[in-house]
Amino acid sequence: MLEDKTPPKTELEQLGEFGLIDTLTKDIKLQHKSTLKGIGDDAAVLDFKDSKVVMTTDMLVEGVHFDLGFMPLKHVGYKAVMVNLSDVCAMNATPTQITVSIAVSNRFPLEALEELYSGIRLAAELYKVDVVGGDTTSSTKGMIISITALGIADEKKITYRSGAKPTDLLVVSGDLGGAYMGLKVMQRENEVFKVNPNNQPDLEPYQYIVERLLKPEARVDIVKLLSDLEVVPTSMIDISDGLSSEILHLCTHSKVGCDLYEEKLPLDPTVISVCEEFEVNSTTIALSGGDEYELLFTVAQKDYDKIKANPNLTVIGYMTEEAMGAHLVTRADQKIPLKAMGWNSFGEE
Ligand code: ADP
Ligand code: MG
Repeated sequence: MLEDKTPPKTELEQLGEFGLIDTLTKDIKLQHKSTLKGIGDDAAVLDFKDSKVVMTTDMLVEGVHFDLGFMPLKHVGYKAVMVNLSDVCAMNATPTQITVSIAVSNRFPLEALEELYSGIRLAAELYKVDVVGGDTTSSTKGMIISITALGIADEKKITYRSGAKPTDLLVVSGDLGGAYMGLKVMQRENEVFKVNPNNQPDLEPYQYIVERLLKPEARVDIVKLLSDLEVVPTSMIDISDGLSSEILHLCTHSKVGCDLYEEKLPLDPTVISVCEEFEVNSTTIALSGGDEYELLFTVAQKDYDKIKANPNLTVIGYMTEEAMGAHLVTRADQKIPLKAMGWNSFGEE
């Protein structure tokens, strides 16, 4: 996990806007040749030569997308970057630059924003993206972070949601349900803490899923892996809202149906045991838990041999004719329409 410390407090008014921007951005280093000019002028200047450029934006609002009650600001910064890089990856592109815009109320001291930026900087360094600009302004209440990410891709490799064909294999990276169960654990510990502040939670057994929640990683490695394997997916999306809803997006955009196999869903042992502890169905969690940032994609049958042995990738089903609809095939070999398994089925278990 990213470490956390209790900092001193410097009021933002003492610095002014320019002092604040300077303090937050002075340690940012540029790594890409394509960045001709980063922070410091009226606009950044970029040169992508022959590559196609993909671009995406996401906004995170305190109290809506993150809760500072159990998410340290360094993690918020890190995650805000990952959410965007994940969208770039979902186009089968490689992230190269980001801009970072923040609105903060004067409730936050400088040290809090430095904490936020330490997470943003760490993410930028680890994932080799240049922070090339942004905007800094005040808000009357809370914190808002908006990040825009750019990435490059070979035109022939850009992957849309719309290219899946019947018989294509449906593949997911990593494993599912961890972030959601991590959230459940953190919420429970938060309640315990409210009742008895002396009760120190032991999160050790939950480390994997708490990290899945607090420190998600964009699957830039999968984009590279696919390129190394010489596989171009026929369609792709990242899992931010839950597997079943993302599958339905691929089906809708590609005009295909899908058979998803319950027995194939990749689950970490921690997720299975925590689902038992919370008495929830692990399949429901795998289908509906959000915030995963894994990649969900389809490949042509001919590419099966290239991906089948890879421990990072699991074939979980295949696409069918649109008229067949989207279904979950259960372990008992029953077919259930996939749309019945969205967020709204939560709590009915
Ligand atoms: P302008 O008045 O042209 O909007 P600013 O004073 O807001 O310029 O920003 C000065 C420079 O600092 C610009 O390069 C801008 O992109 C960058 N910048 C401003 N805020 C941030 C931030 N929160 N993170 C990164 N760069 C920032
Ligand atoms: Mg500005």
